[in-house]
Amino acid sequence: MDKSILFYSTNLIAAPVPFDEALLKGLAPDKGLFMPEYIPRMEKEEILALTDMEYPEIAFRVASKFLHGVITDEELLAITEDAYDYEVPLEHVYDRNYVMRLDQGPTASFKDFAARMMARLMQYYLKQNNRKLLILTATSGDTGSAIANAFYGLDNIDVAVLFPETEVTDRQRKQMTTLGKNVRIIAIDGKFDDCQALVKQAFSDAELDYLGLSSANSINVGRIIPQIVYYFYAYAKLRKTAGEEIVFSVPSGNFGDMMGGVLAMKMGLPVKRFIIATNENDEFPKFLETGNYDKIVPSKNCISSAMNVGHPSNLARLVALYGGMMDESGKIFTPADMEAMRSEIWSTSISDSKTRETIQEAWKEHELLLEPHGSVGWAGLVEYCKESQDDCGRDQLCVALETAHPAKFPQEIEKLLGFDPALPPSLEGLEDKMESFDHLDNNYEDFKLYLVENYK
Ligand SMILES: *Cc1c(COP(=O)(O)O)cnc(C)c1O
Repeated sequence: MDKSILFYSTNLIAAPVPFDEALLKGLAPDKGLFMPEYIPRMEKEEILALTDMEYPEIAFRVASKFLHGVITDEELLAITEDAYDYEVPLEHVYDRNYVMRLDQGPTASFKDFAARMMARLMQYYLKQNNRKLLILTATSGDTGSAIANAFYGLDNIDVAVLFPETEVTDRQRKQMTTLGKNVRIIAIDGKFDDCQALVKQAFSDAELDYLGLSSANSINVGRIIPQIVYYFYAYAKLRKTAGEEIVFSVPSGNFGDMMGGVLAMKMGLPVKRFIIATNENDEFPKFLETGNYDKIVPSKNCISSAMNVGHPSNLARLVALYGGMMDESGKIFTPADMEAMRSEIWSTSISDSKTRETIQEAWKEHELLLEPHGSVGWAGLVEYCKESQDDCGRDQLCVALETAHPAKFPQEIEKLLGFDPALPPSLEGLEDKMESFDHLDNNYEDFKLYLVENYK
């Protein structure tokens, strides 16, 4: 295995590229998403060997399967150790049902797993080539803080985040504006769409090419690979016998998280079934059932707000894994093998009222504290167990993912459960920290001048 894995575009026009190029480009030139040309295997013995390892070591073992030949083992291990300096709790709920809490990172959302590793890999390749990047991103709340925190304090990379002045909560704003160093935060007198339009215009402005603008957005393949790891981790820690199968339930929006899981399965993780639970944006469960894909425009607003996606970009990757071809608009050119997909994936849509009911039931019956996203995942698992022949809740090992910390949704939890969840250490003390950010009108020329003056 000396040749390193190349990454092809799901639109099949652009030529395959090595990992570092896919990472720094983000999107392929033909607007497709990068995917590995083949899926490396984790052999049975390699999976068994993970049992006694810590998270950073497991991350190293899994990622090195894809990055073999493009980074040294020593450097990759240093990156995973630096990125994963927090806990990954597997909470026992009842019998063999567990919740994996992916909410202990600096911004208390599972996006930290992907963003922190992607940021460090980017830093590694930029330093090697003596290059610099300016990450430019617009946020309606959570993405901005995950990106800002992930790149905070790294070399060769600056970060500028635009947010709509009146549309983010105080806590969301403070998670970005209290950082400093290489992170600049800009309040725009406008809406989220205005912020996004400013960013887009900057990307297409040739006069700003010298800044080395990059988006670090959620479709980067550098974010998918880290999201494979925690599936192996959960299995390694919870399996009882060597070949035991596991059921995962994944609350899904843009389908990056689910993609990590499906890749883990294709690498050899013994997964019995993947449950993809969506909120009321139910384009995927319908697609799985019928094979016809209709995106939802505009997407529906649900309380699991990070999953309000009516056209998941990573769906093109899933279709590719099952032998089909879907372009960025959602048009299918080659149908996927839907039979195979149905045998491995089960999907359901969870309404807002069901999401709330589940938060209450989980707390009452199991003292399991969930926020809206994790509740969708748990509700999906409960539904699957009712419908399937599996011995769920008894001998069948099942893990639902909790993707955010309940303290990020204090109003909802207070209303449903009557108390205010305690803040995780990462969000404590924000109130007292000094904020620093700039203000700009919603005007491209002003924004451009700002970039030119601040980044030479
Ligand atoms: C982004 C996000 C999701 C959805 O993840 P996808 O990879 O987009 O499917 C779920 N929960 C939370 C809290 C998120 O921030």
